[in-house]
Formats: sequence, structure tokens, C-alpha cells
Amino acid sequence: MQVFNEISSLKQHIKELKQSGKIVGFVPTMGYLHDGHISLVNESVSKNDVTVASIFVNPMQFGVNEDYGSYPRDFERDSALLEAAGVDIIFHPSPEEMYGENFLTSITVENMSNKLCGISRPIHFKGVTTVVAKLFNIVTPDNAYFGSKDLQQVLIIKKMVNDLNMSVNVVSMPIIRESDGLAMSSRNIYLSDDDRKGALLLNQSLKIASQMIENNQTFAKDIFKAVETHISKNDNAQIDYISIIDTETLEPVEIVGKGCALLLAVKFSKARLIDNIVF
Ligand code: AMP
Repeated sequence: MQVFNEISSLKQHIKELKQSGKIVGFVPTMGYLHDGHISLVNESVSKNDVTVASIFVNPMQFGVNEDYGSYPRDFERDSALLEAAGVDIIFHPSPEEMYGENFLTSITVENMSNKLCGISRPIHFKGVTTVVAKLFNIVTPDNAYFGSKDLQQVLIIKKMVNDLNMSVNVVSMPIIRESDGLAMSSRNIYLSDDDRKGALLLNQSLKIASQMIENNQTFAKDIFKAVETHISKNDNAQIDYISIIDTETLEPVEIVGKGCALLLAVKFSKARLIDNIVF
């Protein structure tokens, strides 16, 4: 496994790999890896000749009062996990390497970046799409793997790739959960023991919603109410949003059917957790 910190040397190396006909898979991450990340790596390793994983805590996607400074980092552990999973190349640039001195360009997927998580995190998706576009230009992957845990993110990235005619196949992978149902997240370490238990309400409420749909209770307002009631059982849970949307447009729906999704964002003190289910 090779580690690159510089854009120019990585680009040169990938150019040579592609000239020799290699198919390149790419897994962008912010590090502090767990089995959710590794599931993306496993898929890439099994479907491509070469797998590149990036570890970059992207300052551009954090708001001023968010956790950029305290976001967990452990490069030694991450690189050991990636090597064991069969990654060929780690890209681990500094913020200076990525953004230089006078960085002026950004990409925004309008009307998808200002909804759901974009309401409480107004600059977040602009930071995500800009860094992902840069990473795609640097790595030039054939296939790139994203988790559907961040459903809004992968939908926005697919839209960007389609709108801008980028030559990469974006693959959306299932949510990996702890054995008790909590969606794995690097931010779960922020949870106190009590809030770790309370956080199970998120997955439970998704199950309640899917049970309602199986029973033909498809009115979004009824599902919303049941989910809200369930999560509100915990006094520490501050609901940011509960939304039932069409995954094409991210617009709310009244009747839940195929292609709709329920998305949740709930804060437990410092930890803001998200989860979702696509129906
Ligand atoms: P992050 O390091 O949080 O930016 O995540 C990097 C990638 O891993 C993103 O595509 C995430 O959607 C994906 N990911 C994070 N958590 C999970 C999970 N529990 N299951 C599947 N994919 C995940």
C-alpha cells in the first residue's frame, strides 16, 4: 500500500495505472474508520483492479460552530485497517494541499443542498460537492463508493456527476449498523452512555415506519407523528428534522410509496446523528 500526500504525485501515479489498463475504484472518507467505511472498501476491492481511499477531514464542509477541530482523527489506525482490507493507495492530503492560498471555486447542487441537513448546515453540501469534485479530478476513478447512511449526500453527488457529465460511476452502498441497530458513525464516540442507549430510538423509529407501510398506512403525516412520538420519548433527543421525501427531488411527499425515504437528524448533546430508510 502506498500513501500519497501530494496531488501531483498521485495524479502521475494514477495516470500510469490507467495507461496500463487498470480499473480504479475510489472510497472518499474523513477517516476514523469503522465497518461502514470498510464495507465500501471491500466492494471497491472486489470490483476494481486498484482501490484508492482518501482520508481528508474537509474544512470546507464544516460550519463555524461545528466540530472540524475536534473531529476524531487516527491516521495510524486507519491506514492499518485500509491495508488489511486490501487498499492499494491512501490519499491523505493536508488542507493547504487541497485548497492552496487563494481557492475561489465551488460547486453547489441547487435545490438539493438547501434542504434536510442543508437547513441546519447551510454550507455543508457545497463543501462536500466541491471536495468530491476535486477528489474525482485528482483520482479519476472509474467507480466511486458512498454509503447510503448519508443519503442526501449520495443523491446530491449522483446529481452533480450527471449534471456535469463526470466520467465516474457512483455506487450507493447499504447502511452498516452496530448489532443493536445504531448506524455506525465516526461521531458515535461523542455519545455518552445514556445517549448511546437513547440513540437506538432512531433505528427503532425507522422500523416503526416501515411496519406502518407494510400495513398500508402510507400517509406521510401519520408516519411522521409515530416517528416523532417515538423519538420524543427521550428527553435528551433534540429533533433537527424528520422528513419523508421523494429521493429524486428531496421534496416532501404526502403519500409514501416506492422511491420515497424517511430521513432523520437528531441531536444528543454534542452528537448530531442521522439515519434513514428508503422504501
Ligand atoms: P465519512 O468518513 O463520514 O465522510 O464517510 C465516508 C463514507 O462512508 C461516506 O460515503 C459515508 O456515507 C460512508 N459511511 C459512513 N457511515 C456508514 C455506515 N454506517 N454504513 C455505510 N456507509 C457509511
